[in-house]
Amino acid sequence: MIAERLNHVIQRIQKVDRSQKVKLIAVSKKKSIALIKEAINSGQKDFGENYLQEAVEKIKAIDDPSLTWHFIGPIQSNKTASIAKYFQWVHSVNRRKVLTRLNEQSKENQKILNVLIQVNIDHEDTKSGVMPEEIDDLVNYANKLSNISLKGFMCIPKPGNAEESFKKMKILLNSYPYLETLSMGMSNDLEIAIRNGSTMVRIGTDIFGAR
Ligand SMILES: *Cc1c(COP(=O)(O)O)cnc(C)c1O
Repeated sequence: MIAERLNHVIQRIQKVDRSQKVKLIAVSKKKSIALIKEAINSGQKDFGENYLQEAVEKIKAIDDPSLTWHFIGPIQSNKTASIAKYFQWVHSVNRRKVLTRLNEQSKENQKILNVLIQVNIDHEDTKSGVMPEEIDDLVNYANKLSNISLKGFMCIPKPGNAEESFKKMKILLNSYPYLETLSMGMSNDLEIAIRNGSTMVRIGTDIFGAR
């Protein structure tokens, strides 16, 4: 059942992904190890998780070094050690303190952590992420850290505003020619995201069902 849903999502991506460079992140938050294993058996390698404790339990239980785990949820700065230890990517970095800690803890784990800065692209009061005018400062800071590899940006658009938000994200990415990753697009807007330059889509519901 997961195999069929996964294939359907892959087909949707391929229909609009002419450059064939979009990576599918299967968002498995609140979903069981059994369902995640079904996706793994269908060939899925990249998984996204939001809640650290739940994620670490699953990552340890599944224990498959061929997988890539992406942390996509809000980050408490006192919880960064487990992120640095268990994840290969973090999409939701939004402040210096988190970057400082992730860098030190990645060093302790002798790894380079791939990082995206979460952008509050629509200036929403309620949403986490860096305001567009504060990005430059955080990018420059991240670039100085030896065990952080800054790859690009992530956003969650304002409901109903996806197309406009994604276009702004693409313009933002283009202003940093050495960055290449845009993590944007979820179950209900993945096509719009890819048409506007997404390179990573984060799909939960359409693979694993409603939460
Ligand atoms: C839950 C979540 C997703 C997946 O959303 P779906 O609508 O279920 O595809 C993607 N990104 C983030 C940051 C999420 O929290």
